[in-house]
Amino acid sequence: MDAIGKLALVGNQMGFEPAEETDTAPRPSGRIDPNSLAACGHAPAELRRAFEAGTPAALTQAAPHPAAGLERNKGSLGIHNAAMPGGQRVALLKTLLTSACERDCCYCPFRARRNFRRATFKPEEMAAVFTQMAQARAVDGLFLSSGVAAGGVRTQDRLIDTIDILRRKRQFQGYVHLKLMPGVQRDQVLRSMQLADRVSINLEAPNTARLRRLAPQKAFLDELLQPLKWVDEIRRTQLPRGSFRGRWPSMVTQFVVGAVGEDDVEILTTTRYLTRQLRLARVYFSAFSPVTGTPLENHAPENPWREHRLYQASFLLRDYGFDLEDLPFTQAGRLPLEIDPKLGWAQENLRGQPVELNRADRHSLLRVPGIGPKGAESILLARRLSALRELRDLQRLGINAARAAPFVLLNGRQPAYQSHLF
Ligand code: SF4
Repeated sequence: MDAIGKLALVGNQMGFEPAEETDTAPRPSGRIDPNSLAACGHAPAELRRAFEAGTPAALTQAAPHPAAGLERNKGSLGIHNAAMPGGQRVALLKTLLTSACERDCCYCPFRARRNFRRATFKPEEMAAVFTQMAQARAVDGLFLSSGVAAGGVRTQDRLIDTIDILRRKRQFQGYVHLKLMPGVQRDQVLRSMQLADRVSINLEAPNTARLRRLAPQKAFLDELLQPLKWVDEIRRTQLPRGSFRGRWPSMVTQFVVGAVGEDDVEILTTTRYLTRQLRLARVYFSAFSPVTGTPLENHAPENPWREHRLYQASFLLRDYGFDLEDLPFTQAGRLPLEIDPKLGWAQENLRGQPVELNRADRHSLLRVPGIGPKGAESILLARRLSALRELRDLQRLGINAARAAPFVLLNGRQPAYQSHLF
């Protein structure tokens, strides 16, 4: 099979990680944007289902040259229109060095004991086909992961070799997100950081006990959390010497949600630690969806709204000064699905004591629904020039005035509003 044929085979099975950034809200149909990757970076719910239904014949018909048919075959090859952390959109090839794996994670379609056709690239082969695609302007960046073959250390060596060839021999200057394999060594973490713009390893579960049920062969602390700690330690203690970009990469991770009975308090406790202590750029959540031929095939899929509420809560913890105690957990340790957690907090705490927007500090502004970090900064700047008197003043600052109105005062007065005007 040639390289394009392999890319098509892998692309058909490859998930679209919400990393880079993406809208996390469920679609009107109730389906969430596909964004789930297994520990090594695979398989969103919707693509899993497509895979379950069989490989479309068109995907197995290899194009004779990478440039030929790329436009038409972008999706099937694993090329996605991804939003970068700064908002820029790029065509990102999301692929695997191999879809073979020696491990047997209970949720994963790539597990060793599952029977399907796999594809494997040599580093030079992957670097060559990606370079051809980049030269054909079909891709701008690469997300590279792998199943685990001959151990995490040897697999990571092949991943590093691929990016090293791309950077040094092929002179690729663009975006690279490189996965860290379970069990990766510290010197490999350092080398990966020197080559990539973003590194990640998926924890999948919030703690050792939950991971044991999800992926019994993985060691939560030693294999998964330790590499994240090394990334943080290296970023804190070493200058980015030898780094391709002249700065250290960002770091993210992901959890599978709803497969092994974990509650939201568990997930968000670990999320808070990761974003505050280890300075992860963000944590991704993936509502569990069962895959046939796996031990969890009869487990019910998770409601996509749970995933969305977790994203909202994680942003409150990371950017809005909220703590776990502020979040409106139920007695079962879950976030209510029917309400945005920030709105839930405001209804409990701000109804009787609205926030005066002309005097409140940044912390208090960020507690108001409809006001985010940018909106808070805009208010702080605008009110130096003149008092905010009506909701249209907020609207002019890009703030969701209707959402904020029930919880604010403007010059001592609660603003009257009609939602359809805003
Ligand atoms: S290590 Fe587990 S999650 Fe990663 S590819 Fe293998 S089976 Fe899937």
